[in-house]
Amino acid sequence: MARATTATIHLDALRHNLGVIRQHAPRSRVMAVVKADGYGHGLERVARTLRDADAFGVAALSDVERIRALGLSQPVLLLSGFDASEDLARLRRLRADAVIHHPDQIEMLAQAESGAPIRCWLKVDTGMHRLGFAPTLVRAAHARLSGLPAVADGIVLMSHFASSDEFADGRAGGAQTRAQLRVFAEATAGLSGPRSLANSAGVLGWPDAHGDWVRPGGALYGISVVPGRPGAGFGLRPAMTLSARLIAVNRIARGERIGYGASWECPEDMPVGVAAVGYGDGYPRQVPAGTPVLVNGRPARTAGRVSMDLTTLDLRGQPDARPGDPVVLWGPGLPVETVAEAAGTIGYEPVCSITRRVRFVED
Ligand SMILES: *Cc1c(COP(=O)(O)O)cnc(C)c1O
Repeated sequence: MARATTATIHLDALRHNLGVIRQHAPRSRVMAVVKADGYGHGLERVARTLRDADAFGVAALSDVERIRALGLSQPVLLLSGFDASEDLARLRRLRADAVIHHPDQIEMLAQAESGAPIRCWLKVDTGMHRLGFAPTLVRAAHARLSGLPAVADGIVLMSHFASSDEFADGRAGGAQTRAQLRVFAEATAGLSGPRSLANSAGVLGWPDAHGDWVRPGGALYGISVVPGRPGAGFGLRPAMTLSARLIAVNRIARGERIGYGASWECPEDMPVGVAAVGYGDGYPRQVPAGTPVLVNGRPARTAGRVSMDLTTLDLRGQPDARPGDPVVLWGPGLPVETVAEAAGTIGYEPVCSITRRVRFVED
């Protein structure tokens, strides 16, 4: 039997999730964030499916190239901006928008050769302290940019949240996000131009932050970063199923130990399944024994450590399982957020980590 480890991408779910986001933010335009190869779902596949998005957000000029090669003409924003003046010609040729977060970029624009003006998104550091101009420097940066021939009219004012997954009604009360909203309002008061703040969690939990453009990534793929509340809790549908097959089912005696490190002991005579999937496919090695999987659509759990090509399963609840039976590692019915939490990470990481030997199919 050929290795059947497969990532199935649910195109309908992508379209559905874009619709859910539009319902949440009806007055905003939607930038579909497709960085990291469409969060591991395949950039071309996602961009083609979401061709109705008002814009795309990416992390690299090569991603803009790939989107333009599909014939898509809406704005594409380089979320980290450009970092070398050589990039400006390519940026113009591809009609890419650029985030401006640092004075060096303004200098490069000031010295740019004449050519088509570039749409700029001026980034304000409202408290995340990753990228952006300090609030006190925003007015001067805006004024300088506005006067440059290389800069298109209508500079967008933007920021990014550090903790928008804590909602205002949550335990932590969303103080960080409220503070960031206040800082943004003060730093940009009186400046003209569209506003953009909200990532997925901002779309789902912070209506005050929607502004003119929302920038969801994870939510498009059906993934939530809100603790204890997977995407389905917001009406989102998972856009990826990771599946494999059982290639063995063995009866192992009570007291025997399973897998590397002999870390898991059979509490009784029991069937142990072996699924043809491991960390070499992108299934996280960090998941502990007992992490849920679906075998024939029914719940089972991992037993022992995940290895590179194989994962062992406790099949006590499924005495009839046979080699060839399907195993779902995540997908509809088993949120990737649950698996990610077991691995000590967020749902974004496993979907971005699928390796090249996994077969991608669309449905
Ligand atoms: C990645 C990114 C987003 C999307 O974040 P999600 O949490 O996936 O919705 C939005 N804005 C910027 C600047 C980003 O880098």
